[in-house]
Amino acid sequence: MKKLLLCTAMLLALSGCAASAPEAQPEVKNEPQPQAAASADKETIFQVSLLQGLTLGDYYGSVSVKELKEKGDTGIGTFEGVNGELIMLDGEVYRAKSDGSVEVAPDDETIPFSNVTFFDADTTEEISGISNINDLKEYLNGKVEEFGKNRFYMIRIDGSFKKVSARSELKQEEPYKTLADALSTDQREFDFDETTGTVVGLYCPEYMNDLNAVGWHFHFVSEDKQNGGHVLDLDIDNAELKWDNTDGFNMLLPETKMFPELDLTQDQSADIKKVETNE
Ligand SMILES: [Zn+2]
Repeated sequence: MKKLLLCTAMLLALSGCAASAPEAQPEVKNEPQPQAAASADKETIFQVSLLQGLTLGDYYGSVSVKELKEKGDTGIGTFEGVNGELIMLDGEVYRAKSDGSVEVAPDDETIPFSNVTFFDADTTEEISGISNINDLKEYLNGKVEEFGKNRFYMIRIDGSFKKVSARSELKQEEPYKTLADALSTDQREFDFDETTGTVVGLYCPEYMNDLNAVGWHFHFVSEDKQNGGHVLDLDIDNAELKWDNTDGFNMLLPETKMFPELDLTQDQSADIKKVETNE
């Protein structure tokens, strides 16, 4: 079922937004939902803001880590001030810092941009010998052709890696620069050799070009939760690849001081490719 729900940003509207989905539970207005996770639609990608707002420099957080955990248990994103790369895995939210080390993010920290879902594996397969990120994307895109290219996929790749090349960045201070400008001086890159861990990946369909990055976006966290970041390249030794096919999309428009003034009509494709891939 196709759903495109655009909600305004009041945090109170979070539960209302999910509840307005056609197959959701009947809405009880103005009453807290004690089990938000239990009542949430598991086949929905929840997105905080637009990537195109983040890339213009709107690094103000609009959702707390605690609130994000009510919308999913697996995903990617960043923190207020782009203070590191966010990876959510098995219900925990981790920050990969600018030195490539990882810490658990506090519940009260806020998030300017993220995509999460409750991960239910629809398919599982073994993969091996995929030696770079372009080969991985080619392999995954072959599966997307098979599964259907017009919905969202969250994947996780658990296993051993000969190498993961990743990046994170220094926390930004106001006034915020564009993301391309910030990363041009404040991106830090690191290689993790012979490591085990998990890559979380998001696929956005082509029609998402104005709201996110089309195609694949990967974050990594090591099995011991010591290292991680936004994946620039990787060499997979042996791993288990799990797909979660999601056909719902739920986006929260943030109530930050910058958001109402942003010019979101401009095509940022080139900038987004640069900040996502270093190309
Ligand atoms: Zn990233």
